[in-house]
Amino acid sequence: MSQLVIQDLHVSIGDKPVVKSVSLTIKQGEVHAVMGPNGTGKSTLAKAIAGHPDYTITQGDVLLDGRSLLAMEPDERARAGLFLAFQYPSEIPGVSIANFIRAALQARLGESAELDATGYYKKLYEKMDLLKIDRKFTSRSVNDGFSGGEKKRCEILQLAMLDPKFALMDETDSGLDIDALRVVADGVNKLRTGQLGILLITHYQRLLNYIVPDFVHVMHEGHIVRSGDKSLALELEAKGYAWLKKELVHA
Ligand code: ADP
Ligand code: MG
Repeated sequence: MSQLVIQDLHVSIGDKPVVKSVSLTIKQGEVHAVMGPNGTGKSTLAKAIAGHPDYTITQGDVLLDGRSLLAMEPDERARAGLFLAFQYPSEIPGVSIANFIRAALQARLGESAELDATGYYKKLYEKMDLLKIDRKFTSRSVNDGFSGGEKKRCEILQLAMLDPKFALMDETDSGLDIDALRVVADGVNKLRTGQLGILLITHYQRLLNYIVPDFVHVMHEGHIVRSGDKSLALELEAKGYAWLKKELVHA
């Protein structure tokens, strides 16, 4: 069984320590939610795992099926089976979604093999049908003038097409109204086939009403201060983060 192991991870931005001794194991098929107040290091954790150059790992390791990802370039990490959905995806005017995803798949194959165009479009349309995405969507430029919901839909489609072992999803709910949130959650739930492991980062409990996590971890000032099942998210929603901080002081 595939697993992503985050071991005693410390991440700094410049000389500022942001993520402090985070350890987590995500097995194939599991959804782990990471919650916590703004500025606590959730995005930093995801970006460091994906290999963003601005984030320095000062201690610890990240292993995908026993192989350390840390010495790998971001594209090698993707080939190893990792996918990062951004909190704020970039706009790429002039590049259609269909061509963008095709280029990503071709890049993963390397130069030795040519992606089969017929097979590609067949798979693309299958995934779009699965996710209930209109065919017209793929001829639009990547994220160019997209609403928050459309950007997230584009990311989910990439996720479905790239078919990674593990997906890091950062605040998939940010900027979404409740209907769009439901569409995205439905998409994620359809991709939850028991093969894909997901690290789902969210500030709000409401996303977890639609994507029910197997585990919930609470991050505070760079540390994971508590882990539990989905009831932990409900407890946080009811009591807020201030309660957690108070409890920590008394712990
Ligand atoms: P979260 O996702 O939990 O809201 P972040 O990981 O984005 O938190 O941020 C954690 C801390 O790191 C914050 O204090 C933030 O200001 C800082 N930070 C994040 N990204 C950068 C960056 N690129 N440059 C400088 N500081 C950053
Ligand atoms: Mg964030």
